[in-house]
Amino acid sequence: MAVNRLWIRQGTVVTGEGLLAADVFVRDATITAVLRRDGPGAGASSPELDDFQGAETIDATGLWILPGGVDAHVHFGMPVRPGVRSLGWRESSTCALLGGTTTVVDFANPERGESLRAAVERWRRAAQADCLCDYGLHVTVPDARPERLAELPGLVADGCATFKAFLAYKGRLMLAPTELATLAAAVRDAGGRLLVHAEDGEAIAQAEAQHIHTGRTGPEWFPASRPPTTEVRAVETVLEIAARTRCPMTLVHLSVAQSVDRVRMFRQGRDAPAGLVAAETCLHHVFRSATLYRSGRDDALRAICSPPLRSPADGVALMAGLADGTLDQLASDHCEFPLAVKRHEGLHGFPMVPNGTGGVGERLIVAYTLGVKKGGLSPAHWVRVCCERPAELAGLGHRKGRVEAGRDADLVLFDPAAEGTRLPIGPGDPLARLWSGTDWRGAVRQVLRRGVAVVRPGVRWTEPEQGEFLPRRYVG
Ligand SMILES: [Zn+2]
Repeated sequence: MAVNRLWIRQGTVVTGEGLLAADVFVRDATITAVLRRDGPGAGASSPELDDFQGAETIDATGLWILPGGVDAHVHFGMPVRPGVRSLGWRESSTCALLGGTTTVVDFANPERGESLRAAVERWRRAAQADCLCDYGLHVTVPDARPERLAELPGLVADGCATFKAFLAYKGRLMLAPTELATLAAAVRDAGGRLLVHAEDGEAIAQAEAQHIHTGRTGPEWFPASRPPTTEVRAVETVLEIAARTRCPMTLVHLSVAQSVDRVRMFRQGRDAPAGLVAAETCLHHVFRSATLYRSGRDDALRAICSPPLRSPADGVALMAGLADGTLDQLASDHCEFPLAVKRHEGLHGFPMVPNGTGGVGERLIVAYTLGVKKGGLSPAHWVRVCCERPAELAGLGHRKGRVEAGRDADLVLFDPAAEGTRLPIGPGDPLARLWSGTDWRGAVRQVLRRGVAVVRPGVRWTEPEQGEFLPRRYVG
């Protein structure tokens, strides 16, 4: 149940800038004050202190208070072909909340001939019935015909301010560079942001055909059909179009060290106004590697996702990119298929295996363990790439992503000293996950979604009412 007034005492707030000894005050669904206990502004009198005498309290001694995680790239309940669909909205959003992620942004994908608006309505109906965390929808644009582009301003006005284009998936979603430039100009004029899947679909189609021709269709051959150069070339194309059109863009799921270098160089150049091009990487690209494709058929099937997993050196470069801000956000690209489904579809060769892996529930813990405890990320980097930047880039900066007065009371009480945490988290197929075992650090102790406790000590899980559709907009 929602509490009317809640005072979270003696905890440490984590922001994108650092750690802050502060108490947090929540009224209904909103954070009303964050009062420091030391440093500048500490001890300032606040009407909250009087008002909250007798309020419900949580003792957060020894705990970190994080903003609820924001995962701006997920695919819940995504239909692939008849009978094959990724893990559903209810199960996936349960994973998210159990792991401390309270907001996701999914993708509305139009069917052939369907308008963008009809696709958004269809995906909203699916989410509305079953999504337990708050959600927004990016809109996939499969071509750049005038009737498509005419829909963009209305969608932006309705809170779908982000669009997705593909340079991969020839014959289905792939746009030619000229079409991408046309779409980019229209998105810019509509006041939106364009997300781009940067892989060279033409080269991948040729490599796939070659593999089929020579009978190399086992799952271990999957990464060879999408080599690093197919990503880097497409990234170069996108950066050139961003510079030319001045359309705000986000490069999603970058997986290769050279891609990070290209973005870094681009931002140092004259063609790049601040904030024009943002970049994302995914949990599995940073913290898992292509060695899985060579460690047995099941491991290879689990690791089939696009782009594929890369070398350990690429993972190191991606982590450095997250730490220096070249990479803005860390997403899960959660799109889980049971291992049995991948095994079955894999009998017809790797091109038939549905692409994707789970991680929306594991994202905070994995990034904490391998990024903060064992890697080069600070707690502030971690919160910045998992909560704050994804909220800003999705057009949710006014409500989500920071523990700050006026924002939604999406809060995670996190124990940074916990050891032996078990993964995977939540429903779904544990055999399909890349994250399992017990040697994980940190633990999600409590989760509030807009002031409603969904995870509490002793009461692991209280199913909340459905999440809210979040209209998204860019301020300023
Ligand atoms: Zn995706």
